[in-house]
Amino acid sequence: MDLLKTLVDKGLRRELPTRDEALAVLATSDDDLLDVVAAAGRVRREWFGRRVKLNYLVNLKSGLCPEDCSYCSQRLGSTAGILKYTWLDAEEASKAAAAGLAGGAKRVCLVASGRGPTDRDVDRVSKTIEAIKADHEDVEVCACLGLLSEGQAERLRAAGADAYNHNLNTSKATYGEITTTHTYADRVDTVQRAQGAGLSACSGLIAGMGESDEDLVDVVFSLRELDPDSVPVNFLIPFEGTPLAREWNLTPQRALRILAMVRFVCPDVEVRLAGGREVHLRTLQPLALHLVNSIFLGDYLTSEGQAGQADLEMIADAGFEVEGAGTTTLPAHRADVPAGGCGGHGSAEDSGAPAHACGSGASGGCGPCGGADAEPEVPAAREAGEARTDLVAVRRRGAGTDVAPNA
Ligand code: SF4
Repeated sequence: MDLLKTLVDKGLRRELPTRDEALAVLATSDDDLLDVVAAAGRVRREWFGRRVKLNYLVNLKSGLCPEDCSYCSQRLGSTAGILKYTWLDAEEASKAAAAGLAGGAKRVCLVASGRGPTDRDVDRVSKTIEAIKADHEDVEVCACLGLLSEGQAERLRAAGADAYNHNLNTSKATYGEITTTHTYADRVDTVQRAQGAGLSACSGLIAGMGESDEDLVDVVFSLRELDPDSVPVNFLIPFEGTPLAREWNLTPQRALRILAMVRFVCPDVEVRLAGGREVHLRTLQPLALHLVNSIFLGDYLTSEGQAGQADLEMIADAGFEVEGAGTTTLPAHRADVPAGGCGGHGSAEDSGAPAHACGSGASGGCGPCGGADAEPEVPAAREAGEARTDLVAVRRRGAGTDVAPNA
């Protein structure tokens, strides 16, 4: 297919595809799916080999958020039966992080629900970062605390944070339909504050909220312009008790096409398969490893994920390897730039863009939380708009509980 040859050539040169080319990837048929995966896989291997970076979410503060992000189980008015607790202290958070690191995670993502941190919250998280780094010298720590105010990114950086996550989530044009309590511009501002403080920016999207192909391309092109180092791709976990509980409109094939499109637009960026992979990709999860170079290990913020051991076995069975602490995730041309970005620096063309919905979307992050069930049972037939409580399991273990995590 000429389209795929063109996209591979551009990806190997770190050149931005056209919007039409990105849209064409989303429009390919299921018959062409393996060709699309193979083509994007060539680009993935060029920049990241067969390495898979593991990330581990620690939900420092769960639920009770005053914001109204429609996708989020922690939102104002959510009746989802999630865990609700206020700030874990440094020792509790460090213990939770240790479980993920023992499972092979290289990065710990410290997430808290809420519009954004107070200066006192930044102090708390700073102590937690210091505690984790005292015990684990090589760990990467990413904070995801919502909208940042003046000076907060710098304080987190000074405390040892390596990265900050804030997702754009969806296109600028449709952002107001998803959230009314803050704006797309607020999200862009926070990502830029993080970059300005020398933090590695992490910003991504949530697919499956009813958006069009054009919206998806818009948000990914915006991310490329904003130039984060990592782009988490979440697939909506439609939690009962949230406004998007009936948005079951992704297939495993579409999820793979979306990931391929993101890889072509952001060829040399850490593309992370985030919340919803178990729910929407199901048995096709291993194919996604040919597209992304990063995943979350174990559970998400408010929902259960596949067991950490199952993640490790999937990676090995698919012929990939877990990225070790001694390896730099990003290609050299990006790793040398403190706050590099999506596809960008020095590439032939930089287009480029403007999240608490933190992201880790994983339904995470302040995230749009969501996650999935360990080994979901998939009914033979399902109807659009039907609730799928069989696929979404609320997290009842790990951080904030007395039960061991599944990392
Ligand atoms: S995504 Fe973050 S800001 Fe939005 S409702 Fe959820 S916890 Fe609150």
